[in-house]
Amino acid sequence: MCAIILLGGDTLIVGVLVELSNRKIDRIFDYKVNNDLEAKIKLGIRVEVPFGHQILEGFVLQIKKDSEVQELKEIIRVVDEDIILNKELLELGQTMQKKTLSTLISCYQVMLPKALKAKKSATINKKYDIYYRLNKSIDYKFNEKQRLLIDMFKDKELVSRKELLQISSSSLKTLIQKKVLIEEKKEHYRLTYDKKKSNIKQLTLEQQDVVDTVDLLNSETYLLYGVTGSGKTEVYIKLIDKVLQKNKTAIMLVPEISLTPQMVNRFQEVFGNQIAALHSALSEGEKYDEWRRINRGEVSIVIGARSAIFAPLNNLGIIIIDEEHSDSYKQDNNPRYDAREIAVIRGKQNKCPVIMGSATPRLESFARAKKNVYKLLTLPNRINGKKLPEVELIDMNIEVKKGNSYFSKKLINAISENLKKQEQTILLLNRRGYASFVMCKNCGYTEKCPHCDITLTYHKTSNMLRCHYCGYATNLVKTCKECHEDAISSLGIGTERIEEELKKHFKDARILRMDYDTTSRKGMHAKMIKAFINQEYDILLGTQIVAKGLDFENVTLVGVINADTSLNIPDFRSSENTFALLNQVAGRSGRSAKAGNVIIQSFNPDHYAITFAKNHDYRGFYNKEMQIRRQLKYPPYYYICYLKISSKDYNEASKEANKIKRSLEKNLKQDIILGPSPANIFKINNIYRYGIIIKYKNDLDLYNILNKLVEHYRSNNKVVLDIDFNPNHF
Ligand code: ADP
Ligand code: ZN
Repeated sequence: MCAIILLGGDTLIVGVLVELSNRKIDRIFDYKVNNDLEAKIKLGIRVEVPFGHQILEGFVLQIKKDSEVQELKEIIRVVDEDIILNKELLELGQTMQKKTLSTLISCYQVMLPKALKAKKSATINKKYDIYYRLNKSIDYKFNEKQRLLIDMFKDKELVSRKELLQISSSSLKTLIQKKVLIEEKKEHYRLTYDKKKSNIKQLTLEQQDVVDTVDLLNSETYLLYGVTGSGKTEVYIKLIDKVLQKNKTAIMLVPEISLTPQMVNRFQEVFGNQIAALHSALSEGEKYDEWRRINRGEVSIVIGARSAIFAPLNNLGIIIIDEEHSDSYKQDNNPRYDAREIAVIRGKQNKCPVIMGSATPRLESFARAKKNVYKLLTLPNRINGKKLPEVELIDMNIEVKKGNSYFSKKLINAISENLKKQEQTILLLNRRGYASFVMCKNCGYTEKCPHCDITLTYHKTSNMLRCHYCGYATNLVKTCKECHEDAISSLGIGTERIEEELKKHFKDARILRMDYDTTSRKGMHAKMIKAFINQEYDILLGTQIVAKGLDFENVTLVGVINADTSLNIPDFRSSENTFALLNQVAGRSGRSAKAGNVIIQSFNPDHYAITFAKNHDYRGFYNKEMQIRRQLKYPPYYYICYLKISSKDYNEASKEANKIKRSLEKNLKQDIILGPSPANIFKINNIYRYGIIIKYKNDLDLYNILNKLVEHYRSNNKVVLDIDFNPNHF
């Protein structure tokens, strides 16, 4: 590769950001633009550049006349015709980089579908249809067959190759050779789109009131707190409709699109082909097509999961985030952004409102609403005066003594009744895979950290229980401190086991088991939901996924087999998550004319997360939980930042973790610093991981100091430092 000497001020120079797999370089490099390519250069497109011995793709972030570098190489090729990172997204990337302390390139890459990332990966192509145009300037005597072909152009300018082939392929060939027919390519999208087929429902007074309160011309953030079945979807639809009438556009985020087929269907019914849906079940080619429809302004609404927040819509008029409490809105790897924060930034930029909706808002969100940082909107009642279901609590301590370890008598009887009435039942097996903890199989007791009030994590290798927040450790004892049985064990139960058990009780019942194993195949989840709606099954048994926003008419019984599991997760949010889960799953019952019941089995029936869920009392739960958060200095009273220090070398990880801790203590005198302690899962793939927790209120110094640490560890080959603000799990 030859280096080119910069001659004068006339040459165009571009600043290009490339991705290098080792994260050490996150810088803009200058390149010279060859005269032939000058006209194609725009900010936010990709170019191909020489870099060392490689050829890389990168984003054009600067266009200028001068460079401080003496010898510049030339760009090789311009990749894009259309801008793929518009001005708003270019700025947003910079803000994100500062907020997450990840690399700028990772912030841009995460905004784009695979086909458009600056990476020389397998190319994902556009699809074309071939058409022909009649060239009237050519004088040619047609035979009969050819005449039939030509007749096709009577009232059409373009006729597709497909149609012409059906008449005669040999005549078509001749006419092309004679230049009577001229080929024209037209791009087509892989997906087809339905037309609008339904209208917006007549809103209730409560719904209308919420819609009227939202100011569509200002960048306010609203929290819509509406109980399950209060008709939030229809409120979203009405708001979006108002926005479209102003010729503006809308983003609608859902936790995971494949888990909310009913909501997506409803949107498609009302808005038809004005919607682009971005979700994980699409192929890369389909995603590319959807993205291009958005970028070209061919759609006005984008519905999708987390990364849809980056949809390149112009003239945004509203951003809606449904189930705002869902942890899926926070990305767990770099760049660790929170779509809810990005939404607020884009709202400000576009001077448009952001609506966050939930039946169980995050504590942080509700606290903000109380302080008027967010405006609170409420839908306290179900549609058409329907009641929230009756919830009954079953004390499993008593049931176990009677020999009923999985199902209480009450639950069995209720299922049996429901089968007789030909009404449907949902059973939730509360299971979360990522944490290992031990529990007494006899009474449900788990041991907690005396300092942090979180469940201790079991470490198999040392046979110890540790707090992965502060590092407190104690030996594992088989005997339960509460009931004195030798029943402490780490055993969990799976859906298959429960299904077997269920079949013993109900031989003829049609049981549908739904968990991440049975739904992992593309489209499986939606299929199962449909079958259940069509009443091909009596009982839907599943993990957390059965709790999500589904609307079944004939479900009148919901049973929770083990409410405690999520309560024992070593996480300060375990009560909040349990309350939300129970509330959500209970909300699936009795949504139509028939009244619904809920039965919750628990070893801790007096725990406040469970009793408040029984009473559908969000505010009660909120007040109680806030007291605990204040006492223990957890969010929303403090922010949390988690530092993960990992290395293949055990000693190196521990040494650097301690070094970081000392440096933080020296520099961040106002903050609380915990650790280093072994991470929740200490050793993965032979990599040891330590964690440090920073609890802070004022983050002015923090970002600078952490940024320096990040820079420092970029050049350390042995130890990786990851920083996570507001982590989901740690
Ligand atoms: P949420 O998301 O708040 O749990 P949904 O949006 O799923 O509630 O609405 C619950 C049910 O009420 C749905 O079946 C929906 O079709 C119905 N519904 C909503 N709004 C209205 C309305 N204004 N009139 C009649 N039915 C409505
Ligand atoms: Zn602790």
